[in-house]
Amino acid sequence: MSARSAAPALSPAGTRVFQQLVRSGDASRTALARDTGLTPGAITRAVRPLLEAGLLLETGDRASTDGALGRPATMVTVQAGAHQVIGVKVTADELFGVVSDLRCRVLDEATVPVGDHGPEAIIDLIVGLVDRLRTGRPEVGSIGLAVSGDVDAATGHVGYSPFLGWRDVPLGAEVARRTGLATTVENDVRALLTGERWYGVGRGISSLALVTVGTGIGCALLVNGQVVHGGFGVAGEVGHVLVDPEGPLCHCGNRGCVEAIAGSAGILERMGQAGFEGLGIGDVAELARSGQPDAVRVLAEAGRAVGTGIATIANLVGAEHIVITGEAIGSSPSDAHADEQDYDVMDPHVRSAFEQRAFGSAARAAIELRPLRFVDWARGAAACAVEDFVTHYGRS
Ligand SMILES: [Zn+2]
Repeated sequence: MSARSAAPALSPAGTRVFQQLVRSGDASRTALARDTGLTPGAITRAVRPLLEAGLLLETGDRASTDGALGRPATMVTVQAGAHQVIGVKVTADELFGVVSDLRCRVLDEATVPVGDHGPEAIIDLIVGLVDRLRTGRPEVGSIGLAVSGDVDAATGHVGYSPFLGWRDVPLGAEVARRTGLATTVENDVRALLTGERWYGVGRGISSLALVTVGTGIGCALLVNGQVVHGGFGVAGEVGHVLVDPEGPLCHCGNRGCVEAIAGSAGILERMGQAGFEGLGIGDVAELARSGQPDAVRVLAEAGRAVGTGIATIANLVGAEHIVITGEAIGSSPSDAHADEQDYDVMDPHVRSAFEQRAFGSAARAAIELRPLRFVDWARGAAACAVEDFVTHYGRS
């Protein structure tokens, strides 16, 4: 987007080798040739500019051996700290930032509370957080930002972010201009999936649906090994799958969407209608655990709505693995350490609705409910910056 390095651009083969190495950490030249389908000569040409730039290191003293002759293998290792990135998850309540290396290992983290939601105010906060995190770290060379809503990763534009109240904000260009660092912007759930695909639950899986349950219901899809972006930055909108045509109004203007039933606001509104005003989402989970019938019913409906939504996704794209996460039941957005026990309330209802609605073999998808820490979101944003750096290395 701007301010990239002046290094010579990698060939397509070079980019493939660099991607392979960033994901694996190190590899012998033989393994690189095998995994990329390139000749040994092409591997040599591919790694040379990266060795010269200090991003790779070659060693021949690894204990493992290369082939049947028992020669020492020439290992190529990523110098993961040589290029560092800052990942920032933007929410309506706070910014959560991390510094990571090329292997997405978190080196530092910081949060900033958000007051004014206007783009100018939040961009000021992002720039301040970036300045704080990059102090004393000359290796920091790029930024990844994760924002909920309709985000065009190709241009860095935020088209529509309902929870921030943003429309058409040139976020990437503005942060790049203010910081002088290449800046990538991605939808927050797709950013999370990008991180999980490389370093988390998505490793080795070619089709995965990642569903986040909380203020909104988000979803990102990995299909045939590719993160699905959709034609206009919208894909996998499980939150607006129709569950009940007579159901509650959704902020999108429709009625009975998954999000209207299972989003935090919908849950609290229906508890209010039952006479329970002023609760937090954690209070509802506590009431349900103690057997309070309204809380049990409202959370059961929420779980069934999520289960129906993910069955729809599974029926459409055939996900082999479905991960449900998010601040969900019982964790406020500012709680960086979601309580795993909070998921027990929804889990059986999600699973039973999924089993009922999934068609045929789609029901074989493994469903995993798990807590999510905000550091994971920020790390996902960092993973997008790493991916962008590796993919566009040397190109302006
Ligand atoms: Zn809706």
